[in-house]
This record gives sequence, structure tokens and C-alpha cells, in this order.
Amino acid sequence: MAKKGRVFSGARPTGRQHLGNYLGAIKNYVGMQDEYDCVYCIVDVHALTTVETTQDLKLNTFEMALDWLAAGMSPEQSIIFVQSHVPEVMELHTYLSMVTQFGKLTDLPTFKEKVRQQPENINYGLVGYPVLMTADIVLYKTDVVPVGIDQAPHIEFAREIVRSFNYRYNTKVLIEPKVKHTEVLKVVGIDGKDKMGKSLNNHIELASTPEETTKRVREMVTDPARQRKTDPGNPDVCNVFTMHKIMSPQEEVDMINVECRRAGIGCVDCKLRFAANLNKNLEPFRAKRAELAAQESYVQDVLNDGGKRARVIAQQTMVEVREAMQLP
Ligand code: SF4
Repeated sequence: MAKKGRVFSGARPTGRQHLGNYLGAIKNYVGMQDEYDCVYCIVDVHALTTVETTQDLKLNTFEMALDWLAAGMSPEQSIIFVQSHVPEVMELHTYLSMVTQFGKLTDLPTFKEKVRQQPENINYGLVGYPVLMTADIVLYKTDVVPVGIDQAPHIEFAREIVRSFNYRYNTKVLIEPKVKHTEVLKVVGIDGKDKMGKSLNNHIELASTPEETTKRVREMVTDPARQRKTDPGNPDVCNVFTMHKIMSPQEEVDMINVECRRAGIGCVDCKLRFAANLNKNLEPFRAKRAELAAQESYVQDVLNDGGKRARVIAQQTMVEVREAMQLP
């Protein structure tokens, strides 16, 4: 079947992935592979704008790639690679930076947020982050970028940079990427408050053992108004119920929806049911992960091969870019 076009998406090397990563991104990545020619990148260079040390970078990249592959991202269908393996992206970044106004970059809400988060480390790379992101996208002649609605302004900014470049050099060599709106599930952490994330330690790792997973689920915050088992609960305000709706069979969801409201089921029982369903859902992932991890150098081979395939596209784009710029 002819594919609809090329998709690009990048994610920072954050190591072992959690449930929020899976439901918010990886599931979409896997789902798009049949329809699109997908290029998925672990953006290690972007990570350098915020990390203090690179000692975990290799391990985090490996663990993340292993999770991606175990979850169904396929190196046969897609290009899966590491950003720094394609140095052409740095060159394109430099050229694009010359057609991007500095004031626009420093005005971006994402930049201002980073300044607040790390006032002691406002580095040059941080300012140019959106330019490097644009280089990532356009280097592979991307047609569409899958993003949630709140991320759409970033792609609009990338489109602006592309237009500036094409106008400056009177060319059409760079493609303006389109946004593909995807339903990005915002998974709330086990604290029941914030988005699931490693930095808040409110996450459930996909690669945890069933016992570790159950332990994390038991720590989940439920309806705060339900103090005792005899109090009726409200599943509509309970994160455990939200997760049941994603992971559990419909009959069980319906049963909890009724029984919780009349104190017919306790929170411990409800959580253990969720943990059992989650563990069952994760079984194939865990089996595949163990199988891939046992194959020596498999992950590295996939990333190296992906890098080579990505580089073929990148080198062709750069020939066209240099020609359009009339570089001597
Ligand atoms: Fe939440 Fe389940 Fe407890 Fe109801 S019974 S409050 S849905 S954990």
C-alpha cells in the first residue's frame, strides 16, 4: 500500500519509558507505521541543552530504544536512529539560524520557561532549540509531524523558518511540514496530581516487574474524599478509574463505576484489579523486551542501521540546500 507521506518525530533520551510515554507517544508512533513512512529520532543533541553531564546519555538512549522496539516500533517499517549520528543536522541548523530572528527565539514561551527553570544555564543551544528542531524535521523532507494541540505552535514556528529560508534563497527546496493532530493522552501520575513523569517520581515504568508494578499501583492516590471503605467514592475524580478505562475490560469498568459509588468495592481491591490488568497488558511487551535485550548488540545495530538510512536522505537534502544557497 502506498504510504501517505513522511512523518518525523523526535524524543529526548529519557531512559526507561513509563506508562505516560507509552500512552502519550509510543502508541501513536506504532500506530502510524502502516500508513506513513516514519522517521523516529532519539534527540540526544537536544538533551545537551539541559543536562549537566553526559554519563547516562548512552544508557538512556539504549534503554529508550529497547522500550520503543519492544513496544512495536519496527526497524523494518521505520527509520529509528540517534540524532547525533547524522551530523548534517548541525550544518542545516547553522544555515537555518541565519534566517531566524534572535528576538523571536527569545520571545518564545518555551524559552522563557527554560530561563525560569535553569537560570544558571541559559546556553546558546537553548536559544537555538527551535531552529535545531526545525532542522531535524526538514532534513528528512518531512510531510507531517504528529503533535498534540498544545505543541502545534512549535511546528508553526518551524514553518516560518522554512518560509524564510525558501524566500531568502528563492527556492522550494525545504518542505513546510504540516501538523498531524494526534490525540495525546495526558496521563496523570500515581500522585493523582501532575502529569506522569520521571522527574516527579510519579511514574510506572513499562519494564518494571509485575511485583514492582503492583507496588506502584498500590501507591496511587484515589478519590481524596473517600476516607474509609464504607464511604461511597466518586470514580469520576479518581485516577485509578481513569486508568481502568484505558486498561481494563468494559464489564469491569462498568462494575467499578457502579460499585465504587455505593461503597461496594474497596480501593485496595480496585487497585489490585487495575494492577492485574496492567500487568496482563504489559506481558507481551516484557517478553519482547527480554528477548531483544538477550540479543547482543541488537539495539545498537538497529540504531546504527537507522542512522545510515537517515543519513542517505540527509545528505541528499544537504546537496540541494547548498546548491540553493549557491555556496561556493
Ligand atoms: Fe477510585 Fe476504585 Fe477507589 Fe473508586 S474504588 S475511589 S474508582 S480506586
